[in-house]
Amino acid sequence: MINLASDNVVGASKQVLDALIAANSGAEAAYGSDHYTAEAEAMLADVFEHDVKVFLLATGTGANALALAALSPPWGAIFCHEESHVADDECGAPEMFTDGAKLIGLPGVNGKITADRLETAIGRYPKGVVKAVQPAAVSISQVTESGTLYSLEEIARIGEVARRHELGVHLDGARFANAVTALQCSPAEMTWKAGVDVVSFGATKNGCLACEAVVFFDPARAEHFGFRRKRSGHTVSKGRLLGAQMSAYLRNNHWLDNARHANAMAARLVQGLSGSTGVRLPWPSQANEVFAIMPKATAKILADAGVRAAPWYELSVSLPPHEKIGSDEVFWRFVTSFETKAEQIDEVIALAKV
Ligand SMILES: *Cc1c(COP(=O)(O)O)cnc(C)c1O
Repeated sequence: MINLASDNVVGASKQVLDALIAANSGAEAAYGSDHYTAEAEAMLADVFEHDVKVFLLATGTGANALALAALSPPWGAIFCHEESHVADDECGAPEMFTDGAKLIGLPGVNGKITADRLETAIGRYPKGVVKAVQPAAVSISQVTESGTLYSLEEIARIGEVARRHELGVHLDGARFANAVTALQCSPAEMTWKAGVDVVSFGATKNGCLACEAVVFFDPARAEHFGFRRKRSGHTVSKGRLLGAQMSAYLRNNHWLDNARHANAMAARLVQGLSGSTGVRLPWPSQANEVFAIMPKATAKILADAGVRAAPWYELSVSLPPHEKIGSDEVFWRFVTSFETKAEQIDEVIALAKV
């Protein structure tokens, strides 16, 4: 079986798991006051070339929802892509943890919102008008849910609109490493230098077992976050187990190496699939996700051979307007990870070449 349904179908990398085992022995202070967590915090400050406030959590949904709660009052409006993870895949956690802020989903092809769209949307909710939710934040995903990337300029333009209207900017970086390696930029350039205030820095999908960081660049924004995390049940008592994962993940560029490998495997798949009859890729594959529209016959050959992918939304608003998935076709997402082998990709390609 070759499982490419997502990058969380694999376990932790050896480097992270070894660090967890090592951190298992001995006594350590609890609730994140341990030296592994302190080390991870210092490493993240280095990674971002900025003073940061860091909070480790076990889930990305927790990271996103609590980060948005730090940016928005209950009467706030949070702008996001209408098919974003925060809107579609978190069971209302952002709404719950903000105590009822309104997520405003914006359309946009390729999984991206634009600065212009954001500006127009903000205009619908006038400041100080009591009957309207008050624009408070914008959330973008990098890598997007369509496997595409915002360019640094696109992020900066969104950041500029946000700043002008006093919105906080959140970046859902569940695949942060894949994005930063693909863009060949620094983490600083992709975040605070482009106007991002808080990052959900994902690590689970790219080598950890269960570890994400919420990273703030302005300590004032982080002021109550410790209470939010505890109150929501996201403060891990043996906090060293998160700290050990994150510090091992960052050590010796392990996180970047993992992401580079995953991205290369996706590029290999794209290359191979482009030679398959009837297969088309509606979105540019810019990191470690490949979305393919394929004949049902091809999909059956893959499935029968044990290849797993994730069936995707056939009516996605992110698809180019002319794109229609035929009744004899499927729309699948393949995601590569740090563990994906070149031979596995080659096998998928060979099967798809019918
Ligand atoms: C996986 C993912 C998350 C985090 O999800 P959890 O399952 O809660 O860890 C957040 N955003 C995006 C875009 C994701 O793909």
